[in-house]
Amino acid sequence: MRKNIVAGNWKMNNDLSQTGSLIEALKGKTKTSNAEVMVAPTFTNLYQASEALKGEGIEVIAQNVHFAENGAYTGEISASMLKSVGVETVILGHSERREYFNETDEMLAKKVDAVLANNLRVIFCFGEVLEDRKSGNQEVIVEGQIKNALFHLKASAFKNIVLAYEPVWAIGTGETASPEQAQDMHAFIRKTLTDKYGSEVADAVSILYGGSVKPGNAQEIFSKPDVDGGLIGGASLNADDFFAIVNAF
Ligand code: 13P
Repeated sequence: MRKNIVAGNWKMNNDLSQTGSLIEALKGKTKTSNAEVMVAPTFTNLYQASEALKGEGIEVIAQNVHFAENGAYTGEISASMLKSVGVETVILGHSERREYFNETDEMLAKKVDAVLANNLRVIFCFGEVLEDRKSGNQEVIVEGQIKNALFHLKASAFKNIVLAYEPVWAIGTGETASPEQAQDMHAFIRKTLTDKYGSEVADAVSILYGGSVKPGNAQEIFSKPDVDGGLIGGASLNADDFFAIVNAF
């Protein structure tokens, strides 16, 4: 059985004291959840968050990583550095990284390898922009993003990979993919995995939806058979909203 997961991507929000306040508000809320719960603070707040949330049933994860182990890469952070502050899961390939920081499929394949080599998990994000959706190319785009960054991997690697479909036109816009659009794409993603690795592998991979998930729409989206949870941006910055989404399972 694949896992249900709800992960909050805090993006570049909250300084040290604001992160502390949000963590305090989250504490003690997860014990009854049917989903694995994760939050992704900024790099500077990871250590604080992972210490403060020990034993709370909320995993602290990172938003990005560099592909090299160490060396002359000013401003970057490696997978083993993340591990040393208690991180076990890393978000890769977010559309904001692709758009604003020129992350390519080739670079992402290297980042995936670095994360897996350190025995960490990957939440791999991908999704089409509005023009691709309008022209009906969304499946071609998504298939390419998945193949180019992940299909060099062995089947066994997928036990440490979670996929996150985030249509770019639905991120931070208030416009959500309809539950049917999400289900159609998630079923297509699972078929893409099945064709390459077989159904045993594909059926065990959690596929999250991200893009304007809110307390009011989470339940309907999560009720779809191939939607195994959500990657939540804006709504994850408010503890009550985040847990209303977590408890949609
Ligand atoms: P919003 O929930 O703010 O649309 O952001 C989604 C997202 O980008 C999560 O990674």
